[in-house]
Amino acid sequence: MPKINKETIDKIMDVAKIEEVIQDCLGSYGPNNPSGLKKSGVRYKALCPFHDDKSMGSFIVYPKGNCYKCFSCGAKGGVIEFLMEHEKLSYPDAIRWLGKKYSILVDDVPVDWTYTPRPAPPPLPTLHLPMSMVLRTQYAATPNNDNLLAWIGSGIRWDCVQRRRIPLVLADYHVGHGRNGHTIFWQIDESGHVRTGKMMKYREDGHRDKEAKWNFDFIHATLGRHWDADRREMVEEPPYPFPDIYNPEKQEPALTFFGMHLTQAAMYRHATIKLVESEKTAVLMAIAYGNSASDLWMACGGLEMITRERLKPLIDQGRRIILYPDRDGIAKWKAKMHQIGYDRMSIDTDPVLKWWRPEDGPKADIADVVVRMLNNAKPLKNIQEVKVHMPETKQLIENLNLDIEPNEPE
Ligand SMILES: [Zn+2]
Repeated sequence: MPKINKETIDKIMDVAKIEEVIQDCLGSYGPNNPSGLKKSGVRYKALCPFHDDKSMGSFIVYPKGNCYKCFSCGAKGGVIEFLMEHEKLSYPDAIRWLGKKYSILVDDVPVDWTYTPRPAPPPLPTLHLPMSMVLRTQYAATPNNDNLLAWIGSGIRWDCVQRRRIPLVLADYHVGHGRNGHTIFWQIDESGHVRTGKMMKYREDGHRDKEAKWNFDFIHATLGRHWDADRREMVEEPPYPFPDIYNPEKQEPALTFFGMHLTQAAMYRHATIKLVESEKTAVLMAIAYGNSASDLWMACGGLEMITRERLKPLIDQGRRIILYPDRDGIAKWKAKMHQIGYDRMSIDTDPVLKWWRPEDGPKADIADVVVRMLNNAKPLKNIQEVKVHMPETKQLIENLNLDIEPNEPE
């Protein structure tokens, strides 16, 4: 196939605008197109078309840099990369696509020129938010709006040791509470820097409230907006009312795992990292099984978040990592583990396969199974029940040849 003239390509690259190209491919955001492109201050955002994105906030389009970037899966590039990745076009066909859009005649004069990607703009310094912001939400005056917090307190039959651990776990993980009923899961890195926070709304039964308006957001993204009580929605307020805290032209957000800062706690210096998908699950598991120096529960926030780059602090520390996928995600998590290729990482599917019961649901994760077990647990009434339900104790009784009183009458 004849090659395209280089001057033609330069002409096209001069006029092609990233926001126009992406808008053509994804459409505009609206009630009928929730995954479309939406203006957000001086930038645009959309649901990321390159990973299974459930809520806006990660995929940002920068007209100024004529590029896009996803802060979750790491997809990035300019107009050509977008067309090649999203429309599955070859490089020459991407040029032809743009030629058609911008009415530039793509001639077929053969020249010896092949595509070299534009060098990416140098990365901006990583955004660090003030710790005072975290503490303000952690010790908020009205944490009672927080349905998740209320459910953790009253919806689960914790034993007395676990119940005493609740406030300690919430404090260690810096779980915060927003004024509008959000639970805030702060992401603090291995050096103690606050990267951002994830705000989510929950229902009274402890499940995500996906019907509510503004049920999900990142803290860094909210800094450019405010809640309009009359319209009952978030309103963009460009340009950035908190330029001293976050100026997107000068810093860029970088996500990390929820709980990463705890790797620096003396207690967890040698702990195995137990990695789950959701932040809520990490908190529940830390309450159920935590306070043990051998396990540190962390949440990645989604499979696409597991990258070698984000795992780096854990790999550098030589940590053992065990992945706990949701029941419907086992195959994908296994594939990801092999792709990462870290020899101290393994996967444990027992909780969602061996311990699982149909009432946990097809998408159950380890916490769904554990909470069901806690809530169904009946106190063991006599030694016969102990022997049936606690095989290790039965073994112990037999090994030690303990003389135990026969069953008490009921
Ligand atoms: Zn993405």
